[in-house]
Amino acid sequence: MIKIAIIGGGPAGLSAAIYASRAIMDPVVFAPAGGQLTLSPDVCNYPGFPDKISGFELIERMQKQALNYGAKFIQRNIDKVDFSKRPFRFWTGGEEFFAESIIVATGSSAKWLGVPGEYKFRGKGVSACATCDAFFFKDKKVAVIGGGDTAIEDSLFLSRFASEVTVIHRRDLLRAKKYLQDKAFENNKITMRWNSEVKEFEGEEKLERIKILNNITGETSFEDFDGAFIAIGHHPNTEFLEGQLDLDENGYILIHDFTRTSVEGVFAAGDVADSRYMQVSVVS
Ligand code: NAP
Repeated sequence: MIKIAIIGGGPAGLSAAIYASRAIMDPVVFAPAGGQLTLSPDVCNYPGFPDKISGFELIERMQKQALNYGAKFIQRNIDKVDFSKRPFRFWTGGEEFFAESIIVATGSSAKWLGVPGEYKFRGKGVSACATCDAFFFKDKKVAVIGGGDTAIEDSLFLSRFASEVTVIHRRDLLRAKKYLQDKAFENNKITMRWNSEVKEFEGEEKLERIKILNNITGETSFEDFDGAFIAIGHHPNTEFLEGQLDLDENGYILIHDFTRTSVEGVFAAGDVADSRYMQVSVVS
């Protein structure tokens, strides 16, 4: 019987592991290696690291801190859970575990376009996190793909660094909130490329140009860009919960009193319950 099982090994899960192990609650963290943060080559905005740190190293340090206080790690994904009664049950690779309490911290994953070159140039011009990477595009020309709040917020943020920001959107209408749209339309660094779809990212060592289809005329063109920010949404990693917890309309876990879910004894933390901030460090 596990006292506290923590599902997810990103910053939220590891923070929970550090606190729970220091409180002598013998937490066990179930998580494969990786997570969104490990994809960030340079984390420059996490307090306490003035000389920046790689996302990978930051996670390693958090793991070490949790291990030092006695947290245990099982590097596996959870396939299925049963939160209908206590003790809670969950399964990984056919093996069954029991826990008195659960913290779900499985995070969210950026949606990607899935076009050629996107994977190859990740971290070499293609990014899904403007907050993390905008700084590297000072006086450069960048594209933002998407038409929602994130895309427009990202373009506004990027316009502080980049020389030009082109929003590539598949329709001629933005989904973003009106006040964000107004700000973007007023910003002379930002231009809109309507009815346009990215078909490929091209370059040698790093991103150099984007192949764009105008879905009205059917014409394809190539345009030079130094960076491309994919902002077509995130999806929370809640598939394995299969109706066991209340979720919002986008699949994020609904919480109250900061971390409580719809099931007493099951808690949620981090991006899996937060579609808004999506940052390692959030002060509430
Ligand atoms: P979103 O609202 O789902 O918007 C995604 C955008 O990407 C849409 O414009 C969509 O186009 C486009 N898109 C989706 N799949 C695509 C594909 N395969 N190829 C090309 N374009 C694609 O996602 P979001 O902007 O990340 O926002 C998520 C949630 O967080 C929303 O509820 C939003 O309000 C909230 N949020 C709020 C704030 C704020 O209040 N300041 C900031 C950020 C996010 P279509 O429009 O054609 O569908």
